[in-house]
Amino acid sequence: MVVAVYPGTFDPLTCGHMDIIERALPLVDKLIIGIYENPAKRPLFPLEQRARLVKEAVSRLPNVEVKAFKGLAVDFIHQVGGKVMVRGLRAGSDFEREFDMALMNRNLAPDIEVICLMTSSQYQFLSSTLIKEVAELGGCLEGMVPEHVAVALKERFPMPTKLATGKGKIKIKNQKLRR
Ligand code: ADP
Repeated sequence: MVVAVYPGTFDPLTCGHMDIIERALPLVDKLIIGIYENPAKRPLFPLEQRARLVKEAVSRLPNVEVKAFKGLAVDFIHQVGGKVMVRGLRAGSDFEREFDMALMNRNLAPDIEVICLMTSSQYQFLSSTLIKEVAELGGCLEGMVPEHVAVALKERFPMPTKLATGKGKIKIKNQKLRR
């Protein structure tokens, strides 16, 4: 039985992550999504909320589990009896970092194999960091994050008071500017 782990910060989950999850799933018997605490990144959403958002997104998928973890990803993978680490690769931006991490992880745990899946082209530009920036400025997130994640982001960033665009809407604070 092949147990694979897809570790990440998922702050928050995007459709790019979901694409990797759905494509990794047929390759393994069980996929565990490991939500990494990652205090160094000072995540926007607390660990429990990130895990809840991922759980809701994968609830309809078979053979998927969601678990939060602290510490080294390879230690977590050993704890859950995994043999494979799944990662996603966007062109350019990810390769060097993922390559270094894969070699470091092989040093730490030679029994774990890292599998990188190439992003689907429609998600090449998607990152949790950009999603948070767009959400903070009130932009439309349709097709980029699952709907319940968009709701959580809206709650976290209520519409900016000055000028915000979202799905064609323009909100202007100073009503005198309107014709
Ligand atoms: P981390 O902090 O570990 O990079 P992320 O949540 O940002 O955590 O990403 C987890 C994994 O998903 C990483 O391997 C990252 O490269 C990959 N990933 C993130 N966004 C995308 C995307 N749009 N397409 C494919 N892979 C992605």
